[in-house]
Amino acid sequence: MGQEITASGESSAADTTFEPGCIFCSILRRAIPATVVQETERTLAFRDIAPQAPTHVLVIPRTHAYPNAAELAAGDPGLTAELLRAGAAVAAAEGLTEDGYRMVFNTGDYAGQTVYHVHLHVLGGDALGRFGTP
Ligand code: 5GP
Ligand code: ZN
Repeated sequence: MGQEITASGESSAADTTFEPGCIFCSILRRAIPATVVQETERTLAFRDIAPQAPTHVLVIPRTHAYPNAAELAAGDPGLTAELLRAGAAVAAAEGLTEDGYRMVFNTGDYAGQTVYHVHLHVLGGDALGRFGTP
């Protein structure tokens, strides 16, 4: 089978990685519903089920290979950039660009990460509070 390497030199074998117990993998497979707002060949953007701002969209890669942003960045810089570009495109489509918005990667327990399939939060639509310890 062997790893496929794209023209840009990035591995794409991880793109098929799927975890049956993962809620985001189930959304990718359309096994559970989600309100999809944008998609690219390697990413999917959908509304968070429990929004923490007027606009709250999650952007995920179509692979379960990376649990967090650090591992994604180390393993696939191109996909990392694509995820950020997708987040910016969502912000633009949602009309957030002019007033501003926040992109967040929660990492680990102290950050409150609950799904270990890397995801970018895009939050906006109103002035956001500061973040960190309350
Ligand atoms: P984390 O806390 O891991 O950074 O973010 C996980 C996010 O996924 C949370 O904001 C949570 O509301 C969202 N979420 C969890 N389950 C579902 C689901 O089934 N559908 C959608 N659309 N979002 C979900
Ligand atoms: Zn997953």
